Amino acid sequence: MPLSMPDRPVILTGDRTTGPLHLGHYVGSLQNRVALQSTHRQFLLLADAQALTDHAHDPAKVSRNVLEIATDYLAVGIDPEMTTICLQSHLPALADLTLLYMNFVTVARLERNPTIKDEIQARGFGRDIPAGFLCYPVAQAADITAFKATIVPVGDDQAPLIEQTNEIVRRINRQAGTEVLPEARALIPSVGRLPGVDGKAKMSKSQGNTIPLSATADQIRDAVRRMFTDPGHVRAADPGRVEGNVVFTYLDAFDDDPAAVADLKARYVRGGLGDSVVKQRLDDVLEAVVAPIRDRRAAFARDPGHVLEIVRRGTQLARTVTDATLRDVREALGLFALHERCDANA
Ligand code: ATP
Ligand code: MG
Repeated sequence: MPLSMPDRPVILTGDRTTGPLHLGHYVGSLQNRVALQSTHRQFLLLADAQALTDHAHDPAKVSRNVLEIATDYLAVGIDPEMTTICLQSHLPALADLTLLYMNFVTVARLERNPTIKDEIQARGFGRDIPAGFLCYPVAQAADITAFKATIVPVGDDQAPLIEQTNEIVRRINRQAGTEVLPEARALIPSVGRLPGVDGKAKMSKSQGNTIPLSATADQIRDAVRRMFTDPGHVRAADPGRVEGNVVFTYLDAFDDDPAAVADLKARYVRGGLGDSVVKQRLDDVLEAVVAPIRDRRAAFARDPGHVLEIVRRGTQLARTVTDATLRDVREALGLFALHERCDANA
């Protein structure tokens, strides 16, 4: 059980509960999480509070996806005996730490954050940025530090957010005069960011350009058929471009025979290889990745009570960990502690 491994390095990562997990999560983070859970003390956060920062108009969606994502975790091989799955909104220390950290970061710094800039643009907020959204990097710093995590497996879109976290950590430690919080390091896999099926820079729940891990064989085939290739490659005989061709990007990410992919690329560039042949291969490769996940998922989905119990127990455990960190930080900063004063007077 996670509590019995206190000496292991701590991992914290999570997902916004805005939709089912997709292939971008799989290459960007889930594979790392499954691999690391047996050697690390790992916490996965169902980030429902962060999801609200751009979904305040749709709390039902945020709520519904808590169970969906917990089921996705179990389907890809997250083992609740090794990994603690917990629910962000039910860990009050995270909100307390966020409020505290907000005083250690400037609005200008938040506005300069490249991830936030990209996301503001992608969501079309214009000037109407919810304050909660602008501040979510602070909440993310609270999430990471509340578990005293030193490793954060994420896609490369998240790297600036880890930098922001470490800035806050250094400020708190400087103010406290002691290393009360550790710095964290992003663990970014070789495929740091999977593009969307529409060719956009990132597969993302909010862009509607995903292949979910729960996709049926028909959904995969349909997504691959509609995938962006090289617009200049009209006939099979034409020489084609591999760069920026999403079908090849996906083959690079998911095909476990790189020599065969290199051969296909060479033939495509020379001319004489039709899109349909490459797409058929990708369809087969993706179906082989998704089919076992889909089957395991269906089994867990038949017993939602069991999944909820895993989340409930994980959240309970996470609460003790995060409450302890909040106490440590408040004490290190010399903040008023009413219970201690009362105990002293008793
Ligand atoms: P949303 O559109 O609601 O922000 P999302 O698809 O971006 O959803 P998140 O919950 O924000 O998913 O991201 C969870 C984790 O998955 C993060 O570590 C993120 O870096 C990683 N991730 C998400 N999309 C991709 C992707 N396309 N490629 C690689 N990693 C990804
Ligand atoms: Mg995101």
